[in-house]
Amino acid sequence: MKQLKDKVVVVTGGAQGLGKAMCERFAYEGAEVVYSLDLQKGNLTADNVRHQELDVTNIAEIDSFIQSVKEAYGRIDVLVNNAGVTRDALTQKMDDNKWESVMDINLKGVFHMTKAIAPIMMENGSGSIINISSIVGLYGNIGQANYAATKAGVIGMSYTWAKEFTRKGAAVRTNVIAPGFIETDMMKTVPEKVLQPLRDQTPLKRLGLPEEVANAALFLASDESSYVNGHVLSVDGGLRL
Ligand code: NAD
Repeated sequence: MKQLKDKVVVVTGGAQGLGKAMCERFAYEGAEVVYSLDLQKGNLTADNVRHQELDVTNIAEIDSFIQSVKEAYGRIDVLVNNAGVTRDALTQKMDDNKWESVMDINLKGVFHMTKAIAPIMMENGSGSIINISSIVGLYGNIGQANYAATKAGVIGMSYTWAKEFTRKGAAVRTNVIAPGFIETDMMKTVPEKVLQPLRDQTPLKRLGLPEEVANAALFLASDESSYVNGHVLSVDGGLRL
């Protein structure tokens, strides 16, 4: 049995990396449609995946997209807030531009996407919201004060939404995935001299794969996790220990 049969799914930042792996897995699991919302198209090929050019910082674009999905399907079952960026610098060298751009995309983008979609889920009585945080949001990382603040903020918002969106009896669940270090383009900026110690410190002795995060997202998106709400699921090979 396909785990997302007939679901309408929205994934931000779906063109590459973790988002792409999630779009492909969700499509394979029978979703009626998976919308990949991204600045770029990428090369998603499944018939039921649709690219929509959208900037998560642009409220007008979000509203017009939501209106079109409402007209086409009348519902959204799963939202994955995955789009995210890094603009690293040590705190004393971090300019406002680096701070604000990361806040706008990683934190405000998640807020605005969810603000637009949660009411549709609540009206329909069910839904699953999955926010992609990071091990850095839980434990910090040198050179990533801006990124860590957004990823910790996402966890706080998620705990709040796990309470808010279930008021009045709606089964709208909000959960978080906190990946460790996963092999995507985002990691290409990290020098090998940093990566090797990370592999060594991870009990599983390797970086993660995008598909391994997609597996965790599938669990949280599907009815298999129907009593899981307000949870942070680490997918980090045990690096946090
Ligand atoms: P990536 O850079 O490979 O992909 C991110 C995607 O987001 C890109 O396709 C990009 O075009 C899109 N995007 C960026 N800004 C956007 C915007 N304003 N509107 C819409 N789309 C936008 O990154 P990734 O490694 O796949 O990371 C995905 C998520 O997982 C991010 O939130 C990241 O912080 C988080 N994460 C990644 C890792 C890792 O090791 N790769 C670890 C922990 C958390």
